[in-house]
Amino acid sequence: MARKRVFSGMQPSGEAHLGNYLGALKRWVEMQDEYECIFCIVDDHAITSGSDPAELPRNILDLAVSFLAVGLDPEKSTIFVQSDVPEHTELAWLFNAVTPVGDLERMTQYKDKAQRFESVPAGILNYPILQAADILLYRADAVPVGEDQRQHLELTREIARKWNAAYGADLFPEPEAIIGRAGRIMGLDGEAKMSKSLGNTVGILAKPDEIWARVRTAVTDPQRVRRSDPGRPEVCNVFALHQHFTPPSVIAEIDEQCRTAAIGCVDCKKILAENIAGAFAPMRERAAHYRSHPDEVRAILDDGAARARAIAGETMREVRMRMGLEWRVALD
Ligand code: SF4
Repeated sequence: MARKRVFSGMQPSGEAHLGNYLGALKRWVEMQDEYECIFCIVDDHAITSGSDPAELPRNILDLAVSFLAVGLDPEKSTIFVQSDVPEHTELAWLFNAVTPVGDLERMTQYKDKAQRFESVPAGILNYPILQAADILLYRADAVPVGEDQRQHLELTREIARKWNAAYGADLFPEPEAIIGRAGRIMGLDGEAKMSKSLGNTVGILAKPDEIWARVRTAVTDPQRVRRSDPGRPEVCNVFALHQHFTPPSVIAEIDEQCRTAAIGCVDCKKILAENIAGAFAPMRERAAHYRSHPDEVRAILDDGAARARAIAGETMREVRMRMGLEWRVALD
């Protein structure tokens, strides 16, 4: 039986960070044996957040290196850059025909982002249409999403339904959500989701001393002011991060020792930093290889784009035909 097809994308903001890894990449690596996976570096999406043209090419390559370093395997999965497959933006434009503006204005992310602009760029509003095009171009069966992307996926399903109804074809499936297990990964500030723009991250390819320099700044239980104060692991983000990197028996010890002030936050963070550095060591090695062989990375992305275009081309032929855009063929 054919494996289900999964599509997922990530914006290129350079080297991936711990939040990207725990929230998405770790799961993507696991999914490669179960699904036919298509992984995309979504640079067309990045321009809606005002990405710097001087930095974007380097950020694309750095994210590709991160993809390969964590274990995304070009033999198993299709890995490519969105703008190398222009069908994404073409399909997004055609989906404008079946997407009510009201649906876009209702999106929570749009409302949040729009507040940051005096004059809101249309790309911020239309962003979920491009996401729908990304997914439906490959007629993906499923999409790994975090809770904050559920609403956009529901809109994708709605666009698929509307397009199928308008053009009399069951071309697009309604993709299912694969909800990640990691939940929301909070940044080192303990306040906001881990995000490069907020500077609250740890790079997955950072060296051990760099990891320690970042982890030592992490906010802990705010009520634990002095070393002798007992702590509350359940409100501490360092403790939450331990869940992903530290063996359960050690976590149980930290839990007990924190509550009785037998361990200080600095020592607790040192354990976390060492465990993160240990977990990411194989990735640093793989990244070093790809960084010194950028032509290999380019070849992988070129091959991925060619494979993606083969699927995208088939979908677009059918879409154009149904929408009356293959006019020469229709008139023959
Ligand atoms: Fe958090 Fe560890 Fe400090 Fe307890 S000892 S408050 S778990 S950093």
